[in-house]
Amino acid sequence: MSAATADPRHAAGPRRAVCPGSFDPVTNGHLDIIARASRLYDELIVAVFVNEAKRSMFSVDERRAMLRDATAGYGNVRVETFEGLVVDYCKTHDIPVIVKGLRAVSDFDYELQMAQMNRGLADVDTLFMPTNPEYSFLASSLVKEIAKWGGDVSALVPELVLDRLMRRARQR
Ligand code: ADP
Repeated sequence: MSAATADPRHAAGPRRAVCPGSFDPVTNGHLDIIARASRLYDELIVAVFVNEAKRSMFSVDERRAMLRDATAGYGNVRVETFEGLVVDYCKTHDIPVIVKGLRAVSDFDYELQMAQMNRGLADVDTLFMPTNPEYSFLASSLVKEIAKWGGDVSALVPELVLDRLMRRARQR
């Protein structure tokens, strides 16, 4: 057996990756990355980060439900939730790769640090995908802010998210 095939990570089996994030709510920028990553792996797990300390517009269940609806067309995408470190989730679920979308150079500074830390902590690799330039300015926080003031975000989020977003924004 050659040295390359002796590494258990080269063993045959489904190639899995995880797309972690807050997804509060999911945007067309997230979906672009999810769609492209789902073509690279056998299974793509979209993992919604449960962080009680962070104020969110939508509950974890609502965020997961919107993601499930928005990704229903992709047979190999699963939506789950996780608490704690993403590398611990990766280890428990046998996922060797984290996929991250990069919007701008400003994302890269932080993401590179995280990727190197995650590699050191648990030997989990990070794949960076440059965003579609159409979405490089797009962030959930910005979408919520615009919706709050009655702005038009219909080109930035899927329709099922738009309905919920407008309702929630009106309640605030
Ligand atoms: P945000 O609140 O900034 O939208 P999330 O934590 O929900 O961030 O995003 C999860 C991940 O999705 C980010 O780490 C980033 O990799 C990716 N992402 C977010 N927005 C975009 C976008 N517009 N284009 C590409 N990737 C994105």
